[in-house]
Amino acid sequence: MPEVSTSVRIADVSMSYGAFQVLQSINMQIAPGEFVTLLGPSGSGKTTLLMAIAGFAQIDAGRIEFSGREISGLPAERRNIGIVFQNYALFPHMTIGENVAYPLKVRRWGKAERAIAVQEALARVQLGHLIDRNIAQLSGGQRQRVALARALVFNPSVLLMDEPLSALDKSLREDMQFEIKEIQKRLGITTISVTHDQREALSMADKIAIMRAGQVEQFSSAREVFDSPKNSFVAQFIGDTNLLRLKQANGRFYLGDLAVPGNGTGVASALVLRSDEIELSREKPQVGVFVPARINASAYQGTETVFHLGLDGQEQISIRCRTNEIGQFSEGDQVWVKSTRPDPIIVPIAE
Ligand code: ADP
Ligand code: MG
Repeated sequence: MPEVSTSVRIADVSMSYGAFQVLQSINMQIAPGEFVTLLGPSGSGKTTLLMAIAGFAQIDAGRIEFSGREISGLPAERRNIGIVFQNYALFPHMTIGENVAYPLKVRRWGKAERAIAVQEALARVQLGHLIDRNIAQLSGGQRQRVALARALVFNPSVLLMDEPLSALDKSLREDMQFEIKEIQKRLGITTISVTHDQREALSMADKIAIMRAGQVEQFSSAREVFDSPKNSFVAQFIGDTNLLRLKQANGRFYLGDLAVPGNGTGVASALVLRSDEIELSREKPQVGVFVPARINASAYQGTETVFHLGLDGQEQISIRCRTNEIGQFSEGDQVWVKSTRPDPIIVPIAE
């Protein structure tokens, strides 16, 4: 593995497909050893940015640097990047060992060195015992591990992963999140991973870049993205979020006729009400941020019960309560919904 981990700087990077600008002046500074996740809806440019870093897509403007050295002009094979592709792109006619050895052959490593490195890479992902197995005989999780071993076997400076877990079912996906994160931290390798799964981003990333239409809307720690979303787009992308439109008068925000703590901004804004950060009661709360509502529907889900609530002048919102902590509520009941956040999150409404 690299003795010293690599920093990545992406400065004013833009890229177009014909008249369509797919990346619009992207800026990101990634510290050595950091795990960054690009999170955004389909078509927001995540794969394109990854491929631009890898050297498979050519940028039109800006620069990409590894530890202060510009690499934007280098061909892909000279960037020393390990890549886990979305579909893994394993060679189906080769064994596990041959797949993992492939990048070393391309790099003209000697046979003995190759054998040692392949064993080490497979041990890292707990597949050492399957070295001669064919790819076709592997489960989804095993394929994922082979792809990771192949990406890391030549000691790359940077690891890129495009939706590495999207082919796996939920429980395996969670196990692999821990496993990949553990390997990444142990190796200290700077990593950029793409996902559209917010849980995956929150649990794995040191920093999350929220992408939208070829731009980075917010680039900060998982906690900061969650607690201080920059706008309604980011807020809606992280957490199970309801947005309640606020009114403004006399320099204050109002939810209905309740003044919400904080100063008005003059910009159209919304309260971020996460579905699991609320309390439901029959009596009007004395303090805090709360709003009257009508129960339109409820769904028992075991540990949790989900309610659909109608608010005055707002669209329906969805909330989750711990089943054993709430009273009996039925359809048609008038209730109060109160935020359990000490400080309300208020965001400007993104166009
Ligand atoms: P994401 O990975 O976030 O889903 P992509 O980076 O794959 O998004 O694509 C971003 C946008 O660029 C999409 O609108 C997509 O249709 C477009 N795009 C991707 N590849 C090409 C291409 N080779 N030619 C033209 N448009 C492309
Ligand atoms: Mg993609």
